[in-house]
Amino acid sequence: CGIVGYVGQAGLGEKSVEVLLGGLKRLEYRGYDSAGVAIIDAEGTLGSRKKAGKLQVLVDDLEASPLTDGRTGIGHTRWATHGGPTDANAHPHLADDGKLALIHNGIIENFSELKAELLAEGVEFLSETDSEVAAHLVARAYRASGDLAEALRTVVNTLEGAFTLLVVHADQPGVVVGARRNSPLVIGLGDGENFLGSDVAAFVAHTRRAMSIGQDQLVTIRPDSVEVVDFDGAPVETTEFEVDWDA
Ligand code: GLU
Repeated sequence: CGIVGYVGQAGLGEKSVEVLLGGLKRLEYRGYDSAGVAIIDAEGTLGSRKKAGKLQVLVDDLEASPLTDGRTGIGHTRWATHGGPTDANAHPHLADDGKLALIHNGIIENFSELKAELLAEGVEFLSETDSEVAAHLVARAYRASGDLAEALRTVVNTLEGAFTLLVVHADQPGVVVGARRNSPLVIGLGDGENFLGSDVAAFVAHTRRAMSIGQDQLVTIRPDSVEVVDFDGAPVETTEFEVDWDA
């Protein structure tokens, strides 16, 4: 029920874990049953950790055995709709031999047809969620196009239901791509770093400059740029607003 994305440039340090866990903490009020993060480190390796239970369970686990931190990452709190609240069903869901990580809030209504198609192709599923289908679909589209934003755009056009999706890929450090349909997603604009959140609470500790993303739009954030397009790939004009909120 909460989503955070982060990209930062080298000079700002490797601090994704702190940014993501801080953002998820501020989204806790929305309710959730599991939490997880995926980070791409400076070597271009994707690491992820996910746990059923309170955010603190994840925090303790990361303290006991830390992930290598990095400048690119995504974080999720889950409110289970498909599959019980277990570690395996928690997000992120991985695909492409652990190189791609995806988080999802919402429900993919047509996931069973899509899952049947992937199973027939020999794809292995590690969870019972509707969301994991999207991870494998984006991986397949990315193998075909080599462009992560384009891959996500292809896939969202085949999905029915409500979704906020964020995706990172180990081969694309410094990039987080996202999409939304009937589910919230907001951009936070930093200095040499940018953020995504299911609401401004996710990043208000770091910046008050924000930008809305409309229905059926996709976003690509890099440390120094933000690009929004519609589901047909056409560029969308965005306007900045100031978050008027006590952090
Ligand atoms: N439908 C997805 C699941 O059950 C996402 C739920 C959510 O919005 O957190 O894993």
